[in-house]
Amino acid sequence: MSLLAYVTGLVLVVLAVVAIVVTPLLIAHARTTHDHGPTCWWCHPRLRRSR
Ligand SMILES: [Zn+2]
Repeated sequence: MSLLAYVTGLVLVVLAVVAIVVTPLLIAHARTTHDHGPTCWWCHPRLRRSR
């Protein structure tokens, strides 16, 4: 049993899932260039600090 192979596969699966989830957001975000506002968390990523 190779733990390294398991971890590598798990990381690849996670990256694939993240890519699948993020890709539609990137495409939808790229189509709307100036329709964003201060509420756009993508253009204005909110940090965990509550300032
Ligand atoms: Zn935006």
